Amino acid sequence: MRNTVVDMPPFYAMEVMERAQELERQGRSIIHLEVGEPDFPTPSCITEAAVKAIREGKTYYTASVGLLELREAIAEHFLQKYDVSVSPDQVIVTNGCSPGLLITFSALLEEGDDVIISNPHYPCYPNFVRFLGCTPKFVKISEQDGFQYNPEDIKEKIGPSTKAIAINSPGNPTGQVLDADTMSRIAALGPTVVSDEIYHGLVYEGKEHSILEFTENAFVINGFSKQFAMTGWRLGYVIAPKKYVRLLQKLTQNLFIAANTISQWAGIAALKEAASDVRRMVNIFDKRRKLMIQRLRRIGFGIGVEPTGAFYVFANAKRFTNDSLKFSSELLEKTGVGTAPGIDFGRNAEGYIRFSYANSIENISKGMDRIEQYLKIKAEKRSET
Ligand code: PMP
Repeated sequence: MRNTVVDMPPFYAMEVMERAQELERQGRSIIHLEVGEPDFPTPSCITEAAVKAIREGKTYYTASVGLLELREAIAEHFLQKYDVSVSPDQVIVTNGCSPGLLITFSALLEEGDDVIISNPHYPCYPNFVRFLGCTPKFVKISEQDGFQYNPEDIKEKIGPSTKAIAINSPGNPTGQVLDADTMSRIAALGPTVVSDEIYHGLVYEGKEHSILEFTENAFVINGFSKQFAMTGWRLGYVIAPKKYVRLLQKLTQNLFIAANTISQWAGIAALKEAASDVRRMVNIFDKRRKLMIQRLRRIGFGIGVEPTGAFYVFANAKRFTNDSLKFSSELLEKTGVGTAPGIDFGRNAEGYIRFSYANSIENISKGMDRIEQYLKIKAEKRSET
């Protein structure tokens, strides 16, 4: 078999960030609206728990599936938040959602299977699927429908090799939240649902749902990176149907041994003590969200249905470009504002730009000013010629 990594596309948002950092080193003033991580420091109740763990010498490997105390806290969180009963034995703690996705797809898929993925989608999903010798089958989701999956469209793509349906709500890059009806209809279609719930907790209108409210035939992937501002801690988890737990455990033992011990102790504090910190961050994100939507619309970007979750605005830039990669690098080079090109998120996302509002109100305003001015001058020049 050909090495599947050879054909793996780069993660363009990361490439924009790397170029932005290079420009910064050259002394340019850069505003980062390309990154997918909270700008907030990790809340102190979490960092204190980590320091305490280090001081108490909790520096050894944990069981491969993670600390029982953390798995119990995760199970309790599911009961409190979603009224879903999960056994701690179904929880496998991971070094972030990324390894969680990798072990989930590895346990679930056999070479030749296919996985249904929305288009646009988080870039890593099809890359993981192809890496395992399987095929992504894309279902278009569109701006007019608020980037909501249509279960009927998914049904049409289901074939004998379809092993799973990937969902991600609130979604990256769209910031849209799937409603309960859509989720329950997707759960009823048959294939196992792989539900990436990493942006849960970052919802500004309405309510997010876990797939486990609708079916047990599902894997939940969640983590601490976004809601608790813990990207660098590398902590996440998978909740799996019982029959897959042993497979996930063996994969974790072989690939990673276990998740970071100190981060696991911090994770317990996050779930038990950080609720008011999360509320504070959510309030600030919401203010930034409203400002960014308003400013982008004024500049002329299209936002059909306002995003209500995560920290992204996925803006229609077709008035300005048909080549999002070129446009995104033009914005970076000419205005010093980093953005993520739509094409990163699938072919159906061409002509869109993802703006992250995980940055201060001041920087968002400055970034919007720069883009507004640049595009205005560009349009004036064009009308003169
Ligand atoms: N899933 C989605 C949808 C994401 O946006 C990200 C982070 N960009 C991840 C998974 C991975 O997150 P982590 O590995 O930090 O938990």
